Amino acid sequence: MSRPTRREPPTTPVYRVALVSGANRGLGFEVARQLSEYGMTVLLGARDLDKGLHAARQLHGAAGEVIAVQLDVTQPEQVDTLARWIEVTYGRLDVLINNAGGYYDPDALASDADLALAEAAMQTHLFGSWRLSSALLPLMRRRGYGRIVNVSSGCGASASNDRHCVAYRTSKSALNAYTRTLAAELEGSGIAVNAVCPGWVATELGGPGGRPVSLGAAGIVWAASLPTPAPTGRFFRDGEAIAW
Ligand code: NDP
Repeated sequence: MSRPTRREPPTTPVYRVALVSGANRGLGFEVARQLSEYGMTVLLGARDLDKGLHAARQLHGAAGEVIAVQLDVTQPEQVDTLARWIEVTYGRLDVLINNAGGYYDPDALASDADLALAEAAMQTHLFGSWRLSSALLPLMRRRGYGRIVNVSSGCGASASNDRHCVAYRTSKSALNAYTRTLAAELEGSGIAVNAVCPGWVATELGGPGGRPVSLGAAGIVWAASLPTPAPTGRFFRDGEAIAW
């Protein structure tokens, strides 16, 4: 499998519609930019629509169209409304990037963690991704094609026994379990479901010192554009499988 950094845009572009959650900044924005460079129509999800419109304007002129859509993944009504709009407008969704995230709590310990923050992390990372995937799967099933990428973290790997980041870690572990379970259900359907760790990346969440955002995003875009037959139910970083 080639590494994402070496991947060139396809020479014969295939029309695809992609949705990226949490795409007004950070990794999500860069993933939207790279997907649009590949010629995909990209729906740039932002919970604050003004921020989404501002971000989409910056991508004006890319090979593929970029359209800002309002999306707070914790709001079931917004998710359902968006799914209906995508069905009416495009009749398809080929790529879903469950990227929205936050709640990085490096100083929290399991013994005295803020459970409200832990719950919020679960609502966004696990249930937000789950809700969005469930709402959009019918559009993927209809065409027998889909790439769902759950943006996770090595922090959520079973072998990662560090005592910090309890809310972040447990919510990403739960997202990993959901990824494997959905992938097993969809085996043979043409819809690949994978988790990707972008590595430590210098975004608002990652802070200074991480690697460039373009590099972290490339690993996500790589999983979003895997050719058929695509691996599914795997955990990747930089285009290489890593342990769950
Ligand atoms: P940023 O903080 O830069 O961006 C997070 C994005 O998620 C923002 O657009 C934010 O919107 C959005 N968001 C948060 N909650 C919601 C919600 N409920 N609904 C919709 N959007 C939401 O973080 P990164 O770009 O670094 O992180 C992106 C993903 O990558 C996350 O899932 C993170 O866990 C993961 N990751 C990042 C790493 C890193 O080192 N940066 C390492 C490993 C994983 P708003 O602007 O409105 O706040």
